[in-house]
Amino acid sequence: MDQNFIKEMETKLKEQQKNLRNDLAGFAEKNVHKKDDYNTKFPNYGSKDEENAVEVADFQDNLSLESDLEKNLAKVDKALERIKQGAYGKCERCGKKIDPERLQAFPAATTCLNCKNLT
Ligand SMILES: [Zn+2]
Repeated sequence: MDQNFIKEMETKLKEQQKNLRNDLAGFAEKNVHKKDDYNTKFPNYGSKDEENAVEVADFQDNLSLESDLEKNLAKVDKALERIKQGAYGKCERCGKKIDPERLQAFPAATTCLNCKNLT
């Protein structure tokens, strides 16, 4: 695969990694023992009943947001890892080249469209 293209994707991926980490750090505590693992903090708005109710609702929302963001972050981390290994742009299931257009749209893709549709 073209080195310039890989460089470009690497830049995009690092940008995404940074943004995802920033988003997560906004409401979650970083796990110091595990890379890119975060734990949603329980919010504290006050001690009134309605404040407690909002805390619980926001906590639930943040938990599902945390899991979405962590999944994306894990994909980005994996793609960056594959760049290091020189395996970037190859489908991890069938080993064929991933369409560069797919990578442009979704730099963290590690499978080709065919394989993605199989899962
Ligand atoms: Zn494939």
